[in-house]
Amino acid sequence: MSNSKQLPSTQSAVYINEIGEFDKIKFDSSIPVPKIESSNDIIIKNYYAGINFIEAYFRKGIYPINKFPYVFGREASGEVVAVGNEVSNLKIGDKIAYLSPGTFAQYTKITTNDYKYIKLPSNSTDEDLKIFGSLFLQGLTALTFINEAYKVKPNDYVLVWAAAGGVGKILTQLISQIGANVIAIASTDEKLKLAKDYGAKYLINSTTDNIEEKVKEITNGKGVDATFDSVGKDTFEISLNSLKRKGAFVSYGNSSGPVTPFPLSKLTPKNIILLRPSLNGYIATPEEWEHYSQELLKLYESKKLKFDTFKTYDLKDYVDATKDLEGRKTHGKLTLKIPQ
Ligand code: NDP
Repeated sequence: MSNSKQLPSTQSAVYINEIGEFDKIKFDSSIPVPKIESSNDIIIKNYYAGINFIEAYFRKGIYPINKFPYVFGREASGEVVAVGNEVSNLKIGDKIAYLSPGTFAQYTKITTNDYKYIKLPSNSTDEDLKIFGSLFLQGLTALTFINEAYKVKPNDYVLVWAAAGGVGKILTQLISQIGANVIAIASTDEKLKLAKDYGAKYLINSTTDNIEEKVKEITNGKGVDATFDSVGKDTFEISLNSLKRKGAFVSYGNSSGPVTPFPLSKLTPKNIILLRPSLNGYIATPEEWEHYSQELLKLYESKKLKFDTFKTYDLKDYVDATKDLEGRKTHGKLTLKIPQ
């Protein structure tokens, strides 16, 4: 039924048993190691797992959890250690990077019917494993959103919120490279400097500047073509007011809380196009995954996309990492090193 290395029965993982604040986050070695249950399953021994803001939404109950214990994590790199007997494209020892729930653990099971993985070269370095365990979720979010949620065009004026954040840094680079004008918003001058280094043309400090006034100045009173707003609740009105007639509002996150319900007629005065997209909706077929993951790899490998990690935390220190992330103390990507 399967081919497997000798695996332990339990493993170290970061998880919750109930919704709540930071104190509900648990780290211990009590979580069972998954077993091959179907002939297309594989088990991966993880090396690095990227941290994403979405974990905070699951922990706080903003996004639903079907089953506890809920092991955090959405992406990782690792080595295949067990394969079901119908798996033909991967073998024990192969290194892969992949998207899946449950990666803040030493071992994760996925099925190869789910195609969201790429094979990594056998001579991948530790640094490669760190990058590829962390690049895909935020990279693909930025890449798919600028192509599908709002197709960014040269000379557009585009508002990028949390421009020095994980997704924000990538959006800033990709939008600038199209020849559009990125108006970066961040809470400190240090973060804005990073956004500038990554290609932003205009900078707005959300702590000290009047954002709407600044946008008016920059766009000669016209407003922006699009806003990529990951902050949600606190910034909805500012984004809406900053858009030009027929502008596109891409609301894709809840860093300050979910956008509160509002009458649709709010969109009418300027004929605004509003989207609330999710990455998974743009990589929902093997063809879409293949197209966008290869495109992202090309951008990274040709150095058109700069990607490095802000900090690598040990798996056991996830609580410190998410306190930093949710406390707005970070920029770019945060990563967990998984104990071997
Ligand atoms: P970030 O690195 O962007 O971290 C969050 C940043 O948001 C902070 O650094 C901070 O930047 C800004 N922020 C503004 N207001 C708040 C607040 N009240 N509390 C905390 N942070 C705030 O995180 P990620 O790159 O991981 O994710 C960015 C957003 O994109 C998240 O909302 C995430 O859920 C969303 N996302 C959505 C996806 C989708 O499919 N829809 C996929 C991937 C990510 P500053 O200090 O400069 O204001």
